[in-house]
Amino acid sequence: MLLRYREFELKLKHPFKITRGARTSNQVVLIEIEHNGMIGYGESSPSARYGENVETVINFLNKVDLSKFDDPFQIDDILNYVDSIEPGNTSAKAGIDIALHDLVGKLLGVSLHKLFGLNKGKTPITSFTIGIDEPKVIEQKVKEAEEYPILKVKLGLENDEEIIKTIRKVTDKIIRVDANEGWKTKEIALEKIKWLQDEGVEFVEQPMPADDLDSIAWVRDKVDISIIADENCVRMWDVPILGKAYDGINIKLMKCTGIREAIKMINTARAMKMKVMLGCMIESSVGITAGAQISPLADFADLDGNLLITNDPFDGVKVQKGKLILPDEPGLGVKKLI
Ligand code: MG
Repeated sequence: MLLRYREFELKLKHPFKITRGARTSNQVVLIEIEHNGMIGYGESSPSARYGENVETVINFLNKVDLSKFDDPFQIDDILNYVDSIEPGNTSAKAGIDIALHDLVGKLLGVSLHKLFGLNKGKTPITSFTIGIDEPKVIEQKVKEAEEYPILKVKLGLENDEEIIKTIRKVTDKIIRVDANEGWKTKEIALEKIKWLQDEGVEFVEQPMPADDLDSIAWVRDKVDISIIADENCVRMWDVPILGKAYDGINIKLMKCTGIREAIKMINTARAMKMKVMLGCMIESSVGITAGAQISPLADFADLDGNLLITNDPFDGVKVQKGKLILPDEPGLGVKKLI
């Protein structure tokens, strides 16, 4: 098997701002694994929050030698080897995991959701993300998001109340809130979440810094809406301890090394009666379609990274009124455009 990659700059429709900063584009690495003339596509969208960038992804990919494997169906052996090269590097590992699953699906002639025994009619409705902004821009973004029935709203800076009030002025859609670790004390987090539950918010993601699990547990016991872990939940060994502080977890392929580990995390969460959300970074249709292929296993989806960009290099999963529509073609079912 041969591994190839190229850098690609995804351009955003709007500058995207969360608690950690703002950006107008996102650098990703597009990956191909070739075997007997068949090509599997993958993608790494690195996040500085987890210690990665395009350079670290490329350094990692340069250490991977797939020429020693001649059977792509040995997914477990191959991905155990990739995971053992170095710790971290989760999006680099996810890019290989996604490409390998795409390749195997193509070699078998089946789509990934079929391979995993999933009903494509059961994909969730994806939320559409509204980044932090001035009221005027927020109003414009909410109008542009008209066809999406669920909004995921980024909070965690100084203007939380203003943002929610601006949105509630123009729509009564379901709102999910993501504070991206923005509320620094348990008292502030409690006050914010109580106010948000009165505003009809469905759940709150990562209200406080990920290293303060005890405070999140304190808050969770005092509110009625669900609290979902994101920055707190990276790999499968993070899941068992999260039950004491959270009602659910947000799994992202780029955090957890890909499809293989995401399914293990979903099974662990289910064993603990926790809710499951599938999320994403700013990604092209390669990464988003990979998440969407296993989304019938999730309660919630936030798979909109490809909807926020203007130059998607691939075509894949579609969205109709928020509902994820999976392609039927083998593997991921993505088509290369650029
Ligand atoms: Mg989040």
